Amino acid sequence: MSFTAHNMTSELLRLTTSLAESTSLSSSSAAAQRDYSLSRTLATAAGGASGAISDMKAMEHQTLKVPYEILNKKFRAAQKNIDREISHVQNSVSDLERTLKQRSDDRSPPGVTITAINELLNGVVSKLSVLKRKSNESLTDELDAAQVCKKRLEHLKDYCLKSGGSGSSSGGAGGANDAAVAQWRKKRLDRMLVDHFLRSGYYDSAINLALHSQIESLTNIDLFLVSRQVEDSLKARETYRCLSWCHDNKSKLRKIKSSLEMRLRQQEFIELVRKDKRLDAVRHARKHFNNLEDCQSGQNIDLQRVMGLLAFPPDTPIEPYKSLFDESRWDQLIEQFRTDNFRLYQLSTTSVFSVALQAGLSSLKTPHCYKKDGDKNGDCPVCSDLLNKLAAHLPCAHCSQSRLVCYISGQPLNEHNLPLVLPNGYVYGEQSLRAMAADNGGRITCPRTKEVFDMKEAEKVFVM
Ligand SMILES: [Zn+2]
Repeated sequence: MSFTAHNMTSELLRLTTSLAESTSLSSSSAAAQRDYSLSRTLATAAGGASGAISDMKAMEHQTLKVPYEILNKKFRAAQKNIDREISHVQNSVSDLERTLKQRSDDRSPPGVTITAINELLNGVVSKLSVLKRKSNESLTDELDAAQVCKKRLEHLKDYCLKSGGSGSSSGGAGGANDAAVAQWRKKRLDRMLVDHFLRSGYYDSAINLALHSQIESLTNIDLFLVSRQVEDSLKARETYRCLSWCHDNKSKLRKIKSSLEMRLRQQEFIELVRKDKRLDAVRHARKHFNNLEDCQSGQNIDLQRVMGLLAFPPDTPIEPYKSLFDESRWDQLIEQFRTDNFRLYQLSTTSVFSVALQAGLSSLKTPHCYKKDGDKNGDCPVCSDLLNKLAAHLPCAHCSQSRLVCYISGQPLNEHNLPLVLPNGYVYGEQSLRAMAADNGGRITCPRTKEVFDMKEAEKVFVM
C-alpha cells in the first residue's frame, strides 16, 4: 500500500535533487513596492537566455523540496506505525496460540476456559481493526502529501509547456500563450512574496495574499505556521513546544548534527539555577546530560560551563557565567531553531524573492543610476526612488559592450535610429526628434535644458 507512495517519492526525489539550490547573496529585505519596475527587475533576473528550465532550477527548489520532505516524513512515520501495529497483532496471535497449545496438551491451569480463549480472540480482532484503521489513516496522510507534490509539479510543468511553446521566453511571439505566461509569472511573484512575508514574520499578510491569489497549495504556509508556534513559545520562555518539535524530527536533526535539543536542555538547567532550584537542576542534569558521547567537543566545554553555574549566583559579574545567565540566550535559541528548521527542509536562509530582486537590480544597475543631477531614466527600475536605495550596496552590471539608448524614447540608437546631436551637446534618437518636430512645426525642445532648436540644427553623430 505504501509502496506506490514510495515509488512516487523516489521519482520526486530524482526531480527535486536535480534542482540546484539558489545562491544566497547578502540579505536586503526592506519594504519593496509591487510595481511594474519590480516585476521587470525580477523578470530580468529570471527570464535570461535559457528560459523556463533555468528558471525552475534557480527559483523552484523549495517549491518541490518542502512537500517532498513532508511526504518523506509521513512515509517513514507510516512505516513505523504499521510495523508497531503488526507486532501487536503478532503478539496477541502468539498469546492465543500458546493458550490453545496448553489446552491441547491438557496442562491447562484451571483458569483457562472457553471464555478466556474467546477473550484472546477478541483481542486479536481488535488489534487487527486497529491495524486496519491506522494503515488507512497513514495512507490518507501520504496521499495528501503526495497530492501536494503532484499539484506543484503540474504547476511548474505548466510554465515549461507554455513558455516553451512561445519560443523565446521574453519575446512577444504568440498572443494567448504570452498572456498565460504573464499570468503564471504574476502568480510566481505572489508565491515569492508570500514566502518572503513568512520569513519576515508577516504571517497575516502572507496568508491574505495567498488566499487572494489562490496559491495556498503552492506555498509553504503550514511549515511556517508550525515554526511560528515554536518561536512564539520560545519567546514566552517555554521549551516544551520546541522539544516536541525536536522529537518529531529526531532522526533528521541527528543527521545534520543539530545541537538544538542539548541547548534547550541546558537552558532549562540555567532557568532552574536562576530560580535557585539547584537540587532540581542537578536532577535535570543527571537525566538529560548523560549522553555526552553524542555531542561534539565544543558542546562538551559548553556543558562544563553550564554545570559550573551551580556555584554562582544569577547576578554574577564573572564571565563566561554572566553571559550564560543572559536572557538573550533565548533569542539565540530562536535563531538556532530557525536555522535548523531551514536546514531540515534545505531552505536557504535568504528568501528567493530577495535573491532574485538583488540579482535583477544588480544586472540593471549602472553608475549612471547614481548620478547626482537627477538625470535619471524613467524606464530603469534602479533609477526609481525605492529600488535605488535597495540597490545602493549591490555591484554594477558588468557590460562588455555599451549600448546607446535614446533618452526620450528608450529605443536603441543604431542605423535605423541614428543618434543626432543638438547645438547644446545633448544627443537624442532621430525618431524621437523627428516626431517632436512634426508636432511642433519643425521646432524641437531639449528635454534636459528646455532650449528650443530647429530640427535642421541637429547633426549626425558618429560613434567610433
Ligand atoms: Zn538607472
